[in-house]
Amino acid sequence: MADTEPTPPDADAAPDAPNASREQQAREYEGINNRLFVVRLVLTTVLIGVYLFSGASADLADGLRASFGDRWWWVNAFYLLVTLFAFSAILFPLSWYSDHYLEHKYGLSKQSLNGWMSDYVKGLLLELVLTVVFLSVVYALLTASPDWWWLWTTGFYILLSVFLSALWPVWIMPLFHDFEPLEDQRLTQAVKTFAEQSGLDVLGVYKWGLEEKTETANAALTGLGRTRRIILGDTMLDKYSQAEIIAVLAHEVGHFKHKDMLRLMVTGSVMAALGFFVAHQVLHGLTGYFGFAHVGDIGAFPLLIFSLFVFSVIAMPLSNAYSRRREYAADAYAVKATGGAEDLVSALTKLADQNLADKEPAAWIEFLLHSHPSMNRRIAHARAVADEMRES
Ligand SMILES: [Zn+2]
Repeated sequence: MADTEPTPPDADAAPDAPNASREQQAREYEGINNRLFVVRLVLTTVLIGVYLFSGASADLADGLRASFGDRWWWVNAFYLLVTLFAFSAILFPLSWYSDHYLEHKYGLSKQSLNGWMSDYVKGLLLELVLTVVFLSVVYALLTASPDWWWLWTTGFYILLSVFLSALWPVWIMPLFHDFEPLEDQRLTQAVKTFAEQSGLDVLGVYKWGLEEKTETANAALTGLGRTRRIILGDTMLDKYSQAEIIAVLAHEVGHFKHKDMLRLMVTGSVMAALGFFVAHQVLHGLTGYFGFAHVGDIGAFPLLIFSLFVFSVIAMPLSNAYSRRREYAADAYAVKATGGAEDLVSALTKLADQNLADKEPAAWIEFLLHSHPSMNRRIAHARAVADEMRES
C-alpha cells in the first residue's frame, strides 16, 4: 500500500526549543477536540431521544419478544447488541474524524487507515461484548429485584472493575500494542532500583510499543497484584534522559504510594451507585408514562441509558477535579523523591510538546473536561513544592 502518511509538521525543529507554532497548533487541536466533545454530546442526546420518542425502541423489543417468546435473556441480549451496534455505526464518522483524520492532520498518528480500522473493529467488538454482558446482567437484576437492582448493579460494577483492572495489562492492552521486557539494562536497573527504594515491588518493566502507531508518548503503572507492572512508551525511550524517565516513573510511584488506584475505584463506585440510583428514580417515574409494562422492559432502555449518560456528564467535573488533585499529589511525591523539580519539569515540557497538549487551556475548560492539570499549572506546582522542600 502506498505510504501516504504526512510527516509531522515540526519533525526537524529542535526538540528542546519552545516552538511558537507548535504551541499554536496545540491550542487549535484542543479547541477542535472540545468542540467535538460538544458535538458528540448533542448527537448522543438526539439519538437516544429519537430512539425513544419514535417508538423504534419499543418496536424492536416487541419484535424480538415475538421471535424469542419468553426466553427474555435472548430478547435483552439481542436488543442490546442491535442497539449498541447501530449507535456506534451512526457515530462512526465522528470516531473516524477524531481518532484517525485529526490525529493525522496534526502529525500525531502513524497508522494507516487499514491499521486504524482493524484497531477500531477490535475495540468495538470488545466494547460490545463487555457492554452487552454488563447490561444483560443489569436487566436480569432489574427484573428480579425492581426496588434494589441499583444496589446489586453497583456491586456487580465493582467486581467487574476490579477484574478488568487486573486483566487489562495482560489481556486487553496486548491486543493493541506489543509489550516486551525493556532491553536497556542500565535503564531497567535504574528503574528497578528506584522502584525498590520507594517500596514498590514491581513484577516487571516493559517497553510499551507505541512507536509503530503514534508519535505521542506515555508511561504508566498498570495492573493489580500479580499483574502490576511499569510500562514505558518506546516513544519516550530515545528522546528522554534517564533522569527524566525516572521523574515520570516517580510520578507513577506517587500514585501507587498514595493508593490512588484504590481511591479512584472507591470514588468511582460511589459515583456509580449514585448514577444507578438516579436511573432507578427515572425508570420508576417514567416507564408507565411511555407505555412500558415494567421497569425491566428492555424497550425502556433509552430511559436507563439517558439517565446514566446525563448523570455521567454532570458528574464529570467532579471526578475530574478529584483526579487533578491526585495528579498534583503524585507530582509532589515525584519532586520529593527525586530531590527537585527540574527533571519532572523538563519531562512534562517534552511530553506536552510531543503529545500536542495545550499547556494552558482556559481555566473553565480545564475544570469541566480535564482529568489532568494543564502543563503550566503542573510545572508551577512542582516548582512550588521544590521551593518549599528547600526552605524546610
Ligand atoms: Zn498521573
